[in-house]
Amino acid sequence: MKRKPFALLAAGMLAGALLPVPSRAADESGDRHQIHFERVIERVRIAFETRESCRNLFSKYHGDSRKALDRARFIYVGDALEPLGFAAATIIGTNQTLIGAGFYQDTADLDGMATVLIHELLHQQGAGAEIDNYIENYQLISESCGTRNAAR
Ligand SMILES: [Zn+2]
Repeated sequence: MKRKPFALLAAGMLAGALLPVPSRAADESGDRHQIHFERVIERVRIAFETRESCRNLFSKYHGDSRKALDRARFIYVGDALEPLGFAAATIIGTNQTLIGAGFYQDTADLDGMATVLIHELLHQQGAGAEIDNYIENYQLISESCGTRNAAR
């Protein structure tokens, strides 16, 4: 399991979402994923359903936000992304996003987690390095989707 992200990185198409303070992995991180991930998905879904400006982030990449969410596959990889400093990472243009332990550093910040997930969904839609000034991109997402800039 741990080797997988590095193999993907070698392909040169991995883009990550960063959080300001990478957390140390904890044994309970898998439990945090089990407990919290569905809530984050639900928060993202509400943003897509209620905010045209949020959906429009995806039209720029000729995609449909709700279809992107429906087909997305999220794979929990524990602390495997920590050496890269990523909370989550996506193979650009695929429906695969890796979720690392760092994604769960503040589980009370549901809106911040939703922002990170939307960022990854934009990578799934084909967005590349142009969105990886992540502080700016998180700000755009939070303003468009009514979520929170997790980089602040
Ligand atoms: Zn990114």
